Order: sequence, then structure tokens, then C-alpha cells
Amino acid sequence: MRPNNSPWLHQLKRQRPVAPVIGDVSADVVIVGGGIAGLTTAYFTLKHTKHSVALIEGGMVAHGATGHNAGQMTSYFEKQIVNIAKDFGLDMVREAQAHIDSAWDLLEEICKDARLSTPYYRFTGYAGLCSKEEILLHLENNYILKDHPTLLEPLMIAPEAGFEVAELQKYVGLYDIVPHDDILETLETKNRTYIAALSAKKGVMNSALFTEELAGFLLSQYVDRFVLHEESFVEEVILEKDHAMLKVNHHDVKAGRVVLCTNGFEKFSIINHEGMDIDKRFHHSISGTIGYMAGYLDADGKPPVAISYIPNAGTGASGSYDSDPYFYMTRRPFETDLEVAHNLISVGGPDLPIEDTSVYSKDAHEYSEEAFADIDGFLHSTYKNAPKGEIPYAFHWHGLMGYTPNGVRLVGEEPLNRVLLYNLGCNGVGILPSIYGGSRIAHILNGEIVPPSIFDPRSAQ
Ligand SMILES: Cc1cc2nc3c(=O)[nH]c(=O)nc-3n(C[C@H](O)[C@H](O)[C@H](O)COP(=O)(O)OP(=O)(O)OC[C@H]3O[C@@H](n4cnc5c(N)ncnc54)[C@H](O)[C@@H]3O)c2cc1C
Repeated sequence: MRPNNSPWLHQLKRQRPVAPVIGDVSADVVIVGGGIAGLTTAYFTLKHTKHSVALIEGGMVAHGATGHNAGQMTSYFEKQIVNIAKDFGLDMVREAQAHIDSAWDLLEEICKDARLSTPYYRFTGYAGLCSKEEILLHLENNYILKDHPTLLEPLMIAPEAGFEVAELQKYVGLYDIVPHDDILETLETKNRTYIAALSAKKGVMNSALFTEELAGFLLSQYVDRFVLHEESFVEEVILEKDHAMLKVNHHDVKAGRVVLCTNGFEKFSIINHEGMDIDKRFHHSISGTIGYMAGYLDADGKPPVAISYIPNAGTGASGSYDSDPYFYMTRRPFETDLEVAHNLISVGGPDLPIEDTSVYSKDAHEYSEEAFADIDGFLHSTYKNAPKGEIPYAFHWHGLMGYTPNGVRLVGEEPLNRVLLYNLGCNGVGILPSIYGGSRIAHILNGEIVPPSIFDPRSAQ
């Protein structure tokens, strides 16, 4: 059996002792979940309000999806923009895209304020496309965003894609025709089925290291207003008219407001004494998948990159919603004790739905050999810089992703009882959306009126 050894947890340099809940606790705002969503929500709440904040984590900070992802920073939705627009309208979807994009600046703000040393790398990343249908879908996405040049994802199309002039007429200015070999070079692939490449602002970061470092900063900066309890699993949340009571380690935690940053898998009941039952609807609305990743070290001296490969069906890549299945590869400097500088090349894509997320254990769950074979097959067939022969994998890991029914993150107040708020539902891409969500929650907790958005919990019901 392959152990779940994530490169992100491997890099944690944590020395902080664990402080579980061992008595009754009370705070203006209680945040449940110590991943990147929970810690950035705590950061913005402490910065923009005068509230006291208690963060309660069932395990250890950053050991959930935050410590088991691909570490790629990207602002696209896994659900196609065209289809989100059908549900919410064009203006709302454009605004939502701009909001997620604003997380780049928010990330920079956090890193500067907290003087974090976690490195992150920003660059232009790419996505390779194989079919005319896929190209047309992305052209249509760009068409919707055409009056907002900063949100556009430039598209290069090879003549080999075989478009008639008339087919592309509507999209003039939204693509370039580029020699096929240049597209393959951009995508670092020898697989000639890729006939187009999208480019977008992307980055890579160890989100676990970032989250753990941010926890340390908040504990030292807000000694009087912030507490962090780990190994403190929330078993029940009881919502009253103006506060909530949480059951944790057989103790009571009283919260003026409670924010769930749990990725989606609470495994606890929510009892609403002030209106309709929230519990059943909420718990049945988030579905889960287990995403598999593998990575190897290479002294290739190449710059950081993030490239997604959207292949034709039948390659083992998986995907969600209406986006086609795809693999994603990142390359970044990886500090090790080796003498020569090494990159970590990591690949994900295969994922498996899980019916009952409460049975998933990051330590006990067996790594899917089928997923591994798909990743290995992808590297050999598609990534032209992969080592010849056997690839010396240093890390294999998996993690849980939470998907909301409409493919859009939930950020905001529960309409049935505003004491409860959410910043959850990664829907495949959660690093930048978590950060944006944390900022939006803080503004709500500060009493500001935020304009309606596709992220409002009522939209998902
Ligand atoms: C394989 C994989 C690849 C991914 N790749 C990317 C990527 O490249 N880019 C990207 O943007 N996103 C990616 N994601 C998603 C991204 O990792 C997450 O959306 C992001 O880390 C946000 O995490 P979070 O804080 O919402 O959840 P988590 O990090 O899972 O944190 C939730 C925390 O809540 C705690 N919790 C849950 N229930 C309770 C309870 N009852 N009591 C107390 N604590 C509780 C958990 O212990 C956990 O620590 C990927 C995810 C996976 C699994």
C-alpha cells in the first residue's frame, strides 16, 4: 500500500504545541475548520472587525485538503462560465470572476502584513485542448467576458484544429492562429492531439505551509482576541436567535456567530431553534470525491509552471460538472536537503466519487492503483520532460474535495439563521476562492452590506 505522503505536509516546520478545547470557550466568532479557508477567514475577521475569534479544528491545522492538494493557484471555475451564466446571469458571473481574481491581491496583502516566508510563484499557465467542442466552449466563455479584458484567457489555436473561417467569425479578436509546434512547445508536450492552448494567470504555493505560518502569525499578533484549538472536533451546532452553542470535546463553545470552513464534510448535526431545519438539506447537498496525486523530484532547472491537459475521453483522467476530464501538472522549486536545487513535478487528475465521506480517512484510505497507473501513463505519454523509463516518485497523496450541487462555492450567511455562515465547497479549485471567501465573510461580520453574489448560500438551494 502506498502511504499518503504529501509533499506539502513534508515541508511543515511546526513547533507549536496542540491546544485542544479542555473547558468551556466563548467568542464573538467561532470558525470551524483549520484549512486555508478557516485561517484566512480568521485573518480578515481579526483585521476588519473588533470581534474575538476562536478557531476550532478537529485534527491539525492544514492537514485536510489544504495539505493534500495540487497547490496550484488559479481562478477558473470548474463549472464552465457559460453554464454558470445560465443560472445567475452574465453580470453576476462577471462580477464573481472578478472577485475570485481579487484574491491575488488579497494573498499579497496577507503575505506582506504577516511577513510570511512561504514562497509562492506567479506566472502564465496553460491548458491544452484536443477537440473543436472544447475550443468553442472556451471561446464562448471569452465572448461572455469580452468587455473585461483582464478576465479573458487568450486562446491559441493550431490550423490543424480544422475550423472554417465562418465558425470563428463571432470570436475574432479572442484567439490567435498559431503553428501547431508552438502550441506543443508551450504545453511542453509531445502529444500531437493537443491543438489549442489557453493561457491564464496562475501560480503555485504550498497552501499548508502558508496556512500554518498564518496561524502562527495570528496567535502572536492577536494574543487578546484569537485562540486556536486543535484536536477539537465539533459534534453538534445548535443555533439560537442571537448565538450558537457548539459541542466540542464534551464542552460548550458559545459563539456570537459561527462560520463553517469545513470544506463541506462536517459530520455533525446542525439544530436550528429559530426556524426551519437546516440539517438535512445541508448535509445532503455537498458531495465528495477523492483526488489522487503523485510527484517526483528533478534537477531539471526549469522555471515554475502549471499546465492542465484536457484529453479526449478514455484516458483515465477524471473531472467534475460540465468540464471535461483533465490532468494537471505543476513544476516548482522544492526545498530539500539535496545539494543541487530540485523541482517538484506533481500531477493530479484522477479522482473517485465517495458516497459516504465520513468513512474517508486520509491515513487509512488505500491509494488507488488505477489512479496511479493513469498518472504514470499520462506523464509518459504527454509530459515531454518526464524521465525516460521508471519515474522515481517521491510522493503519492490523496485528499477530499467538496462539491456543492450547483458547482459554486458557498460564501455568506445561512438564510434560515444568520448566526451561521459558510466559506466552503472547494468544487475542485479552492485556494484563491477560500481567500476571497474569507475577506467577504469578514465584511459581513463587520456589519457591511455586501452586494448579492453567486456565492450567496441562498443561490445554492
Ligand atoms: C487532490 C486535491 C487537489 C486539489 N488541487 C487544488 C489546486 O490545485 N488548486 C486549488 O485552488 N484547489 C485545489 N484543491 C482544493 C483545495 O485544496 C481546497 O479547496 C482548499 O485547500 C480549501 O480548503 P478548506 O480550508 O476549505 O478545507 P480543508 O483544508 O479540508 O479544511 C477543512 C478543515 O475542517 C476540519 N473539520 C471538518 N469538520 C470538522 C468538525 N466537525 N470539527 C472541527 N473541524 C472540522 C477538517 O479537519 C479540516 O482540517 C485540491 C483538493 C484536493 C483534495
